[in-house]
Amino acid sequence: MPASSTERPAVPTSLPATVTIEPITAFKDNYIWCIRAGGRAVVVDPGEAAPVLAALQAAGLRLTGILLTHHHADHIGGVAELVRTLGPVPVYGPADDRITEATVRVRDGDRLVLDALCDDGLAFDVLEVPGHTSSHVAFHGHGMLFSGDTLFSVGCGRMFEGTPPQMSASLDRLAALPAETLVFCGHEYTAANIAFARAVEPDNAAIDEWARAVEALRSCGRPSLPSTLRTEVATNPFLRCAEPTVAGAAAAHAGRPLSGPVEVFAELRTWKNTF
Ligand code: ZN
Ligand code: FE
Repeated sequence: MPASSTERPAVPTSLPATVTIEPITAFKDNYIWCIRAGGRAVVVDPGEAAPVLAALQAAGLRLTGILLTHHHADHIGGVAELVRTLGPVPVYGPADDRITEATVRVRDGDRLVLDALCDDGLAFDVLEVPGHTSSHVAFHGHGMLFSGDTLFSVGCGRMFEGTPPQMSASLDRLAALPAETLVFCGHEYTAANIAFARAVEPDNAAIDEWARAVEALRSCGRPSLPSTLRTEVATNPFLRCAEPTVAGAAAAHAGRPLSGPVEVFAELRTWKNTF
C-alpha cells in the first residue's frame, strides 16, 4: 500500500454543531440536500433551480458551492440557472463531458474541503461508484454519505451504464463504510423499495421495523431519509446478496441456480425492474 494512503487521516466522523442538513424537494420524488452552516449553504444535485432559490431566500442563505453525483438531468438540471442567478460558485462533479457545469472535477480518493461553507471546512472523500452511470460519484464525510442514485434506502439505482460486477462492487464499497453513517439518497423511493424487499425476504424483521418507521415519517410528510448504513445492511436486498435467504429467493425467481453474490445481484436488479 502506498505511504500516502496509510498516512492520510480518516475523514471526520462527526458533524460540527453549526451544520445542519435539510431536504429541498424537487420534481416528483427528488431530494436536493442542502448542507447549511450559519448563513451559508452547499446543495447536492440541484436538478431544478426554483425550489433551491426559494429555500435559500426563505432562510436568508448564501450559496457557496454545489456537489454533483452524476450527469442525469434530475440531478444537474438546475445548476446553470443557479449560477446565472446567484453568481459563480465552485461546482464539484465527476470528470464527465456530459456535466459541462462542473468547475472542479473530482476523482476517486479526492478529498473536498468546503472551506467557504464554514470556518472549520467540511471535508468529503470522493468515491467513484459506477453502475447507475459510468461516472457516478458519492461523497462521504462527517458521518454522512451522499449516495445520489447508486444507493437508495432499501434499494439501488438502475444499471443504466454499468455491469452487475461494477454496480455490486460500488454498493459493497458504500456498505463497508461505518454502520452509523447517515445515508442521504437522491430520491424518496423507500416505501416502494420496502415492498420489493419484503417479497425477497418475507421473514426479515428488520424490514418490518424500518417499514414502520418509514410509514410514520411519510404519513406526516417527512422524508424517510437519512437512513443509516446499519439499517441498509439489515434491510436492503441489494446489500444482502451473500445472505442465504436473499440468494435463495433470487435463485427461485430465476428458476436456476446462481453462482454467487454478483449473479444474485443481477437477478435481483432484473426482478426489481418489473416488480
Ligand atoms: Zn440518476
Ligand atoms: Fe435521479
